[in-house]
Order: sequence, then C-alpha cells, then structure tokens
Amino acid sequence: MRGDGDGWVRCAAGHRHWGRNGAAGLLLRDRSGGADRVVLQHRAFWSHQGGTWGVPGGARDSGESAVQAALRETGEEAAIPPAAVRPYGLVSDDHGGWAYTTVVGVPRVPVDPEPIGGESEDVRWVPVAEVPARELHPGFAAAWPALSAAPEPFTLVVDAANVVGARGRGDGWWRDRAGATAGLLDALAPLAAGLAPADLPPGVTAGPLDLLLPRVVVVVEGAARAVTEQAARWPVELVAAPGPGDDAVVGAAAAAGGQVVVVTADRGLRDRLSSAYVGPSWLLGRLAGEA
Ligand SMILES: [Zn+2]
Repeated sequence: MRGDGDGWVRCAAGHRHWGRNGAAGLLLRDRSGGADRVVLQHRAFWSHQGGTWGVPGGARDSGESAVQAALRETGEEAAIPPAAVRPYGLVSDDHGGWAYTTVVGVPRVPVDPEPIGGESEDVRWVPVAEVPARELHPGFAAAWPALSAAPEPFTLVVDAANVVGARGRGDGWWRDRAGATAGLLDALAPLAAGLAPADLPPGVTAGPLDLLLPRVVVVVEGAARAVTEQAARWPVELVAAPGPGDDAVVGAAAAAGGQVVVVTADRGLRDRLSSAYVGPSWLLGRLAGEA
C-alpha cells in the first residue's frame, strides 16, 4: 500500500533506518557517446543526512519490489519517468531486519532530471570522475567504490529456431514451430527476473552486482513469427525476422551494446558475430534449473 513503508526501524546491527520494508534507490548511469555520468540527488537540508549527495530513492511500500520502489521514488524526486529507465542490476546491503537495495539502470531515452517534490535541493547528471569530490551521503559514499565498478548491461540474444531445434529434437516440434517457440518463451520468462553471478554465461561479468537483470531478445523466423501476436505474454523483446533469422540475430547483437551473448549452435552465424556466443545447452541447462 502506498506510503505504508514510511517509518523508522532498527536493524540487527542497532542502526536506525528509514523504511519499514527496507529502502531502495536508483543509480542511473549513462555511458553513451563517450560520456560516463550518473544522476545524483542533493538532499534537502531538512531531510535525514540533509545537504549530502546520493541517489534518488526511499522507503519500499509493502508488496513493492526494490525495482518498483527505486523507479517510483526517482519519478517523485527527480521527475524521471519509470519508463525512461532500464534497470539491469541489483546490489543489496542487508543489515538484518533492514536492507538497502541499489538498482543500477541505464536510460532508454534521453533523461533530463530536475528536482521536484521538496525532498531534493538539486538533481543532476554528475560525471563519474567527479562523484568522490562531492559531500556524499555516508551510505552512498561507502557503496560508491563497488557501485562505480558495476559492469555494463547484459543482453542475451536468442536464435529461437536453433534453440527450439536443439530442445525439441524427436518430438515433432517442426510441425508446430509457433507452439514450440511459445513453449521456449514460457521457459525463458524467469530469466528476465534476474540471473545470479553463478548462472551467467562464460565471459559475462556481474562485478559487484548481486543480480543481473538481462535484456532478453528473441529472434523468431518463418512460421514461428506467429508468436509475436501474443508478444505481451512474455517479458522479452521479440524480433520477427522478415527473412532468414541469422541477419536479424547479427543485427540485434550489434545494436545491443554492453555485454552481449548470442545463444546459437549455428557455426555460420557464429562466424558473423562480433559478440560472444554460447550453445543452446547453456540456455537449456538454465531453463531446466528454473523448473
Ligand atoms: Zn543497519
């Protein structure tokens, strides 16, 4: 319920913290066009640790995820719409009985933060190199060395025809390619909720992040393109290839930026990629683990 998380609690270590259900904040980082900058909030002088710089954030409401809370608070304090942010990782600082979750995100569209709502003296983009020179909120200052080392977002591009073929060998999947692809998408959905560092494909790093929220791009071709009529069912991005799927896979991987891994066993396709790749067995192993 909105606002029901407001209040002070004492954690297992004996500190007083704001947020009965814990708290969450957003570290929005933009590394596009040669920039490297983050959105920082100069907290209003009347507030707790007033006058210091930190990330926008606040108490989590009951039933609200850390991502939902961080994006809501950022909208309320920095006028950044939740839809403008792609969250891609989480770092949790658990004190026992209270935890602070930093959500790391990148802008989906150009973002121009401005202070609103009275809790912000100022909100602005700050070059990463200049962050340590500011008077930082003590919690943010302690977290910054690790947070600043967070890797770029992770995108998984799935060659659906190839993976479905590897998954469905022998059960007649080729007679119902759209149905088999829908089954793959159902199985993939939990991946979008997050991958722990131990579950990442080789070569992808989580750095200090406890959980990576991958962007999952699934390329479908031929008769399997019928699944796009139900695209809203799955928390992934569907790309319907107009011709052979390979061209669309190469294009999606090249356009993604950050850490990119393509799932395919197709040797000809692998030769065309500038990004990393893994075989369907890696993905099918993850999916089996989710079941
Ligand atoms: Zn504490």
